[in-house]
Amino acid sequence: MLKTDKITYYCKECLYPSSHPLGLLFDKNGVCSGCRVHKEKYKINWNLKKKAFSKLLLNYKKKNFYDCVVPISGGKDSFFILDLVVNTYKLNPLLVVFNRHFNSKLGIKNLELIRSIYGTDIFMYTINQDFYKFLIKTSLKKIGSIYWPYICGSTVLPVQVACRENIPLIIWGCHQGIDQVGMFSHFDNVEMSRRYRKEHDLLGLEPEDLKSYELGKYKDEIKMLYYPSDDEIQKKGIRGVYLNNYHFWDSFNQHRLLYKKNKYYINRVNNTYDYFNDIDCQIYNKLHDTIKFFKNGYSKITDHVCREIRLKRISREQGIQLVNFYEKKIKLNDDFFFKWLLLNKNKFYEYLKKFKSDLIYFDGKKIKLTNESKRKRNGHKTPNTSNRNINYIKFNAPKILDKSYDLLLQGNLSKR
Ligand SMILES: [Zn+2]
Repeated sequence: MLKTDKITYYCKECLYPSSHPLGLLFDKNGVCSGCRVHKEKYKINWNLKKKAFSKLLLNYKKKNFYDCVVPISGGKDSFFILDLVVNTYKLNPLLVVFNRHFNSKLGIKNLELIRSIYGTDIFMYTINQDFYKFLIKTSLKKIGSIYWPYICGSTVLPVQVACRENIPLIIWGCHQGIDQVGMFSHFDNVEMSRRYRKEHDLLGLEPEDLKSYELGKYKDEIKMLYYPSDDEIQKKGIRGVYLNNYHFWDSFNQHRLLYKKNKYYINRVNNTYDYFNDIDCQIYNKLHDTIKFFKNGYSKITDHVCREIRLKRISREQGIQLVNFYEKKIKLNDDFFFKWLLLNKNKFYEYLKKFKSDLIYFDGKKIKLTNESKRKRNGHKTPNTSNRNINYIKFNAPKILDKSYDLLLQGNLSKR
């Protein structure tokens, strides 16, 4: 098995580049660890997995007023997660929402729907706006991320609430490290850890790492985002489990089923064909995706396409065409965000520049081809390098999209 290195190449089966920020391992056939671990899904006896999960829940059911903490937003897989937690497993959860400040109207409406459909208690936490803006600027300068404060808050708040309210079980949806890059096997039943959160979710930077001279007047506020101590977590027996270890995870199908059932709010976005994910945020599909492209050389459409290729709903060729089509449509039109943040757009680019991927030119329009001769000269042994641009096919966008929509949406979708 070869570890990824500085020269970027693409998986032979999906379209992830070796520069994936969560880290991919490639086998001798050029297939990534994400694809390999995905194949486990077809070998697992999911009925046994579900039984194991029900057994695990027996330790927590009806032991306290709340059986578990469930972190949610007004997008992603919230409805599917709640359907399992409330309707299938009959738990009484305390829902936890960390306010990201730039919620979309549809995301807010989805939270209202969740409240009325599931009748559950919801705890929402909003940190003050000035501090939040300060955190966005700080993480932009330090690690090239504007989303760090949200990820930080949304991954620590459920743990803090679990500790404070003595609710030892946290139920998360999908573990990205398993589903995207195959960092762990489904057989490991890996659980929440502070280490994974720091290294992957938070790109190596915890709030605890910020020095007082960097924090200035916010040196006390930052403590609101501190992770509970190992002692406290251990003493209270807090654990966080992931549903994709116990259920075959197919985000698109899950949305399709739950959309039929609950008719929640969805939205057509510019950067992907997926109407469901991340529509709760005003910048996720625009500025955030532009930054992802600058930094990693690929954007959200690649995540969605890799998912569909692995689930065998589209071919790799169709995936390449979808990526080439949607990547050109990411638009940096989030002036409202810069205005809100009180940050000049040029200054923003200046901060971001040092984090740009070698994969692209800075204007974000052109992807550099992997230099095969340079790769060989450097002695890299990965066989059959597959660069998606080599396979570039000139295509009629609406035609292929119609076809993909047919395949993916099966004509069932109408905008609410
Ligand atoms: Zn792959």
